[in-house]
Amino acid sequence: MTYPTTRAFRARVARIERLTPTFARITFTGDDMQHFGGDGFDQRIKLVFPLANGEFTDVGLFDEPVAPMTVWYSRWRALPEATKNPIRTYTLRAVRPHVAELDVDFVLHGSESPASAWASRVVVGDEIVIIGPDRRSGVQGRGVEWRPGRARTVLIAGDETAAPAICAILEQLDVDVEGLALIEVPTASDAHEVTSRSRVQIRWMPRDGAAHGSALTPAVEQWGRERRRPAPSAAPLPEPGSDEVLWEAPADVVADEYAWLAGEAGVVTSLRRHLVRDIGIDRTAVAFMGYWRAGRAEGS
Ligand SMILES: Cc1cc2nc3c(=O)[nH]c(=O)nc-3n(C[C@H](O)[C@H](O)[C@H](O)COP(=O)(O)OP(=O)(O)OC[C@H]3O[C@@H](n4cnc5c(N)ncnc54)[C@H](O)[C@@H]3O)c2cc1C
Repeated sequence: MTYPTTRAFRARVARIERLTPTFARITFTGDDMQHFGGDGFDQRIKLVFPLANGEFTDVGLFDEPVAPMTVWYSRWRALPEATKNPIRTYTLRAVRPHVAELDVDFVLHGSESPASAWASRVVVGDEIVIIGPDRRSGVQGRGVEWRPGRARTVLIAGDETAAPAICAILEQLDVDVEGLALIEVPTASDAHEVTSRSRVQIRWMPRDGAAHGSALTPAVEQWGRERRRPAPSAAPLPEPGSDEVLWEAPADVVADEYAWLAGEAGVVTSLRRHLVRDIGIDRTAVAFMGYWRAGRAEGS
């Protein structure tokens, strides 16, 4: 029997834990959740949220055999807004197949937007659909952008939306990896426990009401100034247009240094530009991912 690499799982909320003022960890379970896969690191998943009446419009997510994403996604796009379930991208913070559970850490950024609003008022037993890897497919690495190759020196930088991915990455790093992890969060009390065998220094940086990037940007610049490496000649980078996808994750890193940047799209784009153009880091050793875009709902 063959299994799809990625598919939809029906899930319900098993537990809710308020980690910090900004983060809620929601644990999901489901009848076939023991098959949920994932390779850790920054494994991304899609969450399909219920409509206001609790329903999920059938777009073929549970068809047998499993419909390719192109098929169900175009059906979903064609739906009128009133019956279109919101879909958002999140990080698989942890998966425990032996107890059929997985965790997602939600940033609570208000009650106006579908995902944050849902996570703010969710109760145990609420239903959701999670699209993610099926471990029985045997395919690995789908939806994981952390690909440092042989690099053993890393810069990891992101805002609160990237904190779940950064924590999951840190937990899996080998003991011989060194570098710096910079995590910008709304307040000092949003720092939370993360264990790592690596020699990567972890710095939580509160922004305390200032603009997104106001703590992260100077910290990355400081890292650049202290970096003990000669700067090779700067590679020209095109300026992204306003509709350009703000995402580039190299697959074949050959450098011995690797940078992973994720968070608000404008902030990570300028950080990436700084690393490549001002510091001279090879752009093929820099993964940058716009996890959200100020002023724009996901997918709009
Ligand atoms: C690969 C990937 C992994 C991600 N992992 C996580 C994760 O593990 N946890 C997590 O919380 N988020 C994560 N995100 C970010 C999350 O998908 C977005 O924040 C998403 O927009 C939230 O949906 P929403 O319905 O709350 O807001 P939307 O409806 O998408 O947006 C509504 C408005 O809110 C703004 N907005 C969106 N997010 C934020 C925010 N965090 N702070 C302030 N304003 C915001 C938008 O700019 C827009 O103006 C991830 C994104 C990607 C691409």
